[in-house]
Formats: sequence, C-alpha cells, structure tokens
Amino acid sequence: MFSELLNLQREFFLSGKTKSYAFRMKQLTLLCETINRYENEIIEALYQDLGKSSFEAYLTEIGVVKKEIKDIKKYLKRYMKPQRVQHGIALFKAKSMLFQEPYGTVLIIAPWNYPFQLAIAPLIGAIAAGNTAVIKVSEYAMHTEKILVKMIEETFSEEYIKVITGGVNESQELLSEHFDYIFFTGSPAVGKIVMKNASEHLTPVTLELGGKSPAIIEDVKDIALISKRIAYGKFINAGQTCIAPDYIWVKEELKDSLIQGLKEAITLFFGNDPINHEDYPKIINQKHHDRLIHLIEDKKVVFGGNYNEIKISPTICDNVSWDDKMMQEEIFGPILPIMSYKKLDEVIKTLKKKDKPLALYLFTEKKNIKKKIVQELSFGGATINDTLMHFANENLPFGGVGNSGMGAYHGKHSFYTFSHAKGVVDRSTNIDVTLRYMPTSDTNIKIIKKLMK
Ligand code: NAD
Repeated sequence: MFSELLNLQREFFLSGKTKSYAFRMKQLTLLCETINRYENEIIEALYQDLGKSSFEAYLTEIGVVKKEIKDIKKYLKRYMKPQRVQHGIALFKAKSMLFQEPYGTVLIIAPWNYPFQLAIAPLIGAIAAGNTAVIKVSEYAMHTEKILVKMIEETFSEEYIKVITGGVNESQELLSEHFDYIFFTGSPAVGKIVMKNASEHLTPVTLELGGKSPAIIEDVKDIALISKRIAYGKFINAGQTCIAPDYIWVKEELKDSLIQGLKEAITLFFGNDPINHEDYPKIINQKHHDRLIHLIEDKKVVFGGNYNEIKISPTICDNVSWDDKMMQEEIFGPILPIMSYKKLDEVIKTLKKKDKPLALYLFTEKKNIKKKIVQELSFGGATINDTLMHFANENLPFGGVGNSGMGAYHGKHSFYTFSHAKGVVDRSTNIDVTLRYMPTSDTNIKIIKKLMK
C-alpha cells in the first residue's frame, strides 16, 4: 500500500538533496512560514478537536513548535559540523572524526492529545537531520489531521514529506514497511506493537510513551502557589497530557489544606461551572469520555465529578488506594486521585517497584529530599516545585525510560535522535608503528600492555 511512496522517498533521499545545510535551513523556514500562514486554521482545528482555547493552542502547540524551529535553525550549522575527537597513543598517527548522517526515510506516528505539536516537533528534528519523512497523524483529532495534510501538501513534495491519514490499519501497513527510523508517540501498549514491527527490519526506534506520573508533596512553603501549579499541570487540556501529574501522594498532615488549595485554584481558573467555561477543553471522543466516567468512584469525589456529553469537570478524589480503578491505568483525563503517606520512605519503596513514569513532580524546600528522590527514583524527567516545566526547557532531553519509553528529543536532542553518529578514523600513511604486526615478540607485548593501560 505504501511501498510506492517509500520508494519515492528513498530515491529522493539517495539523490542527496536533503543533506545540505542550505536545503535543511530552507525547509525549516518554509515549515515555519506555513505554520504562520495557517495559524488561525490550526487554532480553529484544535478548538474543534479538543475545545482548546486559542491561548492554550498557541502556548502548548503552535508556540512550542515555532520556538523549536527557531532554536534548531540557530545551531544547525554547529550540529552538522563533523567533530574531531581524541584518541589514545595507540592510534598514532591519525585523525578521529565524528560525522552526523541522516538515517534516511523516517516514520513519525503521532497521538491525538497535542495533535499538531506532536506531529510537527519530531518532523523538525527529522528535517534538521536531513531525512525524508512520512507522518501518520492521529485519526481521532480529525480537524487537525485535515489541516496538517493541507499544510504539508502545499509546502513539500510527497517524495520529501507526506502526511498519511487513517487509523490502525494504515498505521500497521506503514509499520510493515522498511523505514530507516521510527519515531512513535503514544501508549505503551501500541509502543510494543511498533517495536515488534520495527524489529522485523532492525529499524531503530524512539518511543515517547506515557504512564502514571506521580506528584509527591513532602513539605510546602506556599500552599496556594503549589495548588495552582498542580491544578495547572493536571487540568490543562483537560488532563489529556502525557506528563500531567496522574495522581498526588501527599504527606498526611498537608492533605486537607492541599485539597482546599486545589479547589480554589480550579475555581480561579475555570469559575464555579468549569464544564461550561469556554477555556476548559473537552474529552477527545465518546470512547475516552466513557472510559474516564467509569474510573470515577462517586464516594471518593470531593470536588467536581459532574460532566456533560463532551466535558468532564476537574474532579478531585480523596482516600484513593492502589486497588482503585483509577490507579490501574494512566488516567489521561481531568481526574485527580489523592493518596496520603506518613513517611517518604514508604513512597520511595512503592515507586521503586512500579513502572518508571514519564514525569515525576516533587514539592519540597528541602535540599536533601530533592537529592534523595532524584538519586533513588527513575523517571523520564522531573520538575521540582512545579509541574510540566522540564518540558519547556529545550536544553533538556524529553523522553521516557522503561515503560514510559526510550530515546528523547527537543532542541539539539531532536537533531541527534534523527542522526546516526558515524565514527571515522583517518590514518596517516607517512608513519607506521609496527608493534601490532605479526610475528609477535615478548618485547612487543610488554610495550602494548603499557600503551593499553
Ligand atoms: P495510541 O497508542 O492509541 O495511538 C498513537 C498512534 O498509534 C495513533 O496515530 C494511532 O493511530 C496509532 N495506533 C493505535 N493503535 C495501533 C495499532 N494497534 N497498531 C499500530 N498503530 C496504532 O495513543 P493515543 O491514545 O493517541 O495517545 C495517548 C497515549 O500517548 C497516552 O499513553 C499518553 O501518555 C501517550 N503520549 C505520550 C507522549 C510523550 O511525549 N511521551 C505525548 C502524548 C501522548
């Protein structure tokens, strides 16, 4: 089904056109210009798909990718430059170099929750690194899907970049093809399918997955401030954010004031009737709406819990335990379970046994606690005393570990993710140290042992 497209892209890649600095810079500029031209349509599509306000659409989708293009263009020449690396005396006389080469034709598979950002941000890395790309966007965000097709068709030829629409069938057809790299963003369950398919062709993968990201609250200087920061991270995009705090684990004596703080923060953001607030997004579709409603246990709800056909209000659940339904899967919606603990060591011990989360949030003013959590727990990335902010620093690699994924991107990490690092040793023919040649001798072995120490 897609082999013709792949042949076209492979041929274009092999022509070498995508490799020059000038070509890459031009395509990044074209992409940015297209985004500028389509800004209003993208905002409208994101509103149709997810009920995102124009502010949220710009902040979390359009602005993010425009900044990513600007940053990568600024340093692209430096990233592309072959790098001279050191070597030991055993290699005398030679020059050791590191070259970054594009993989070739890459496949990008995107989810629906940030349907614009998560299709375009990897594409920026793929272009910067000199690849051609096929992008499979999510069928659930159908308005954004339409705009992406239009934008990309208008800007690039299909031998270079092509958007594929459709669902699981199309995705599986694509996965059966031999790509040179696969960049997947989505659930751990589908991540496994992607990796299995990739193994058929030994295609390297980046898997940007999800999971249950905890927010641990150990001590608090300003409860109103941290409540705002948690409510923001949780309820932006109605909780449909891969790095949203999935649940809260709070020191017992802080729980009541935290719940009060969260209620006030939610009311401050969305008023007394969030589901009718124009800035409060909707749930992507009926299937996810049903799934989320099913997770809410009425007797645990201490705030919210109401919904209409498309929205679920920010909901806080108290006295939650690991046995509850909402703790059995990634919530990925506006439901915030709260559990309490007496001693931080209980939390650390439990989390060490759980899947490694994509994000971790820790609230404390104590240096030794920060150090302890960062050293003892494994997670994709973390923000201390706030939520989501590690995502906003393009100097940090963004990605998961274990069940939350493998590989990372953003800024220079995107360039390196889509490049193969090729090491080359260039030996001089003017001098030749003959030690390594046969026949061997005891003296030579002694010298070699010294050299290789
Ligand atoms: P999903 O895994 O269901 O779908 C992702 C993509 O895979 C879609 O394009 C879909 O068409 C395709 N797909 C679905 N089933 C498939 C199959 N059986 N075979 C091949 N392809 C298939 O994920 P989703 O529901 O779109 O997104 C939610 C998940 O993504 C959550 O787990 C969330 O945490 C995660 N996520 C992670 C990040 C990140 O950056 N790490 C970002 C956003 C979302």
